[in-house]
Amino acid sequence: MQLDKIKKAGIIGCGGAGFPTYFKLQGKVDTLIINGAECEPLLETDKEILRNHLNIVIEGIKVAKELVKAENVYLAVKGYYKELISFLKKNEDGFSVFPLENIYPIGDEQILVEAITGKIIPEGGIPLDVGTVVQNVETIFHLGKLSLENENFTHRFVTVNGEVEFPFVAYIPIGMPILELLDIAKPKILLSNAKIIDGGPMMGKFITENDFIKKTTSGILIIPKQHKLIRQRTRDLEAIKRISRSACIQCRKCTDLCPRNVNGHRIEPHKWMRNLALGEMIPNEMAQICSECGVCELYACPMDISPRLIAQLMKKQMFEKGIKNENFHNIPERKKEYADFRKVNTLRLIEHLDIDQYNVHPHIEKLTIEPKMVRIFLDQHIGIPAIPSAKLNDRVKIGDTIGTSGDEDLSVDYHSSLNGKIISVENEYIEIVNEKNI
Ligand code: SF4
Ligand code: SF4
Repeated sequence: MQLDKIKKAGIIGCGGAGFPTYFKLQGKVDTLIINGAECEPLLETDKEILRNHLNIVIEGIKVAKELVKAENVYLAVKGYYKELISFLKKNEDGFSVFPLENIYPIGDEQILVEAITGKIIPEGGIPLDVGTVVQNVETIFHLGKLSLENENFTHRFVTVNGEVEFPFVAYIPIGMPILELLDIAKPKILLSNAKIIDGGPMMGKFITENDFIKKTTSGILIIPKQHKLIRQRTRDLEAIKRISRSACIQCRKCTDLCPRNVNGHRIEPHKWMRNLALGEMIPNEMAQICSECGVCELYACPMDISPRLIAQLMKKQMFEKGIKNENFHNIPERKKEYADFRKVNTLRLIEHLDIDQYNVHPHIEKLTIEPKMVRIFLDQHIGIPAIPSAKLNDRVKIGDTIGTSGDEDLSVDYHSSLNGKIISVENEYIEIVNEKNI
């Protein structure tokens, strides 16, 4: 398959970052890893795709393998899901199943690559630096759809979970209003008393009921505002700074349990917390390799303070000042001694976060989901936003191109996810009303 076809189909990384897939598949590597780790608690999206659409995933793997010329292809899934592992092993076709430990954040590319290949990506590096490319299961599913059915990226699988009567996984049109999705899930609490998370509990972003499904949305969680998780994740930055100065006991737990530190990088969050305690925030360049996984904030720290938040702030300040880390080691490091004792077991994490009541493993439901309208943003990927190509009042069908990447190097096309009419064209987004509502 031509890389340009993947670009024009709008396929981007579905695991969170949204990197254009054609770009990632340009390099030639030894090892291709299909990431089905789904390390965030409460999400079932990748596992459900594998259970229900393995034939399409296998086609996608063939396309990706051919493009990157990989000799080794691993489909990585947590060994904890024994039935799924045994189903996948029976269907190994051009790939080997790699059972992963049930630890968080095993799906982080850096941690995943080390777990499978034993190679440590250099500080500030990417999997390509160690001859590896990683693709999320759903991204591979879309490659398979493109190959088998010539289908552009218009829908995605989303887990809807949390404080709802009907948790489910379904194939959702990109751009669907969150409010309409919640009408199906039926929240058990008033939305004014809830926080909505796009993604998982550890790294997901807070959104509102007025937002829309994106190509990178793997889950929508509804959690009560007064829940411990929300209280911890919504603390005011000034309060965090103040508490850090008075409460950080320099126990080093944030550093000892930091997955990037355990994996051999020199990131030491307790040091930037110590600097904070001594006075003004001094930028710590190693914060640039913080993955923002949240282990330090939501699991490690006994004083409930947040090295992650301070890392986010330092990264922003360093970016604005143009400070780059010149001191990254470009040679592989060694994993830390006692690494096995510093891993964060996902079941313990769920218990610690007090979210076990939401750990209900919803399945794919065959729902007819036809939103009244969609709003499709043209910058859902990393890179240069697409340019609107559809015009006001145009009639469009599912899969029609509405935004183009042109000749831009790092961009993708966007497509209608509804049969309907264009009702708004802005530089940032396009809105389409369902033909049934015209
Ligand atoms: S874990 Fe918390 S208290 Fe301990 S060093 Fe880190 S920030 Fe300070
Ligand atoms: S969020 Fe905390 S634990 Fe995670 S990589 Fe950053 S410093 Fe380490």
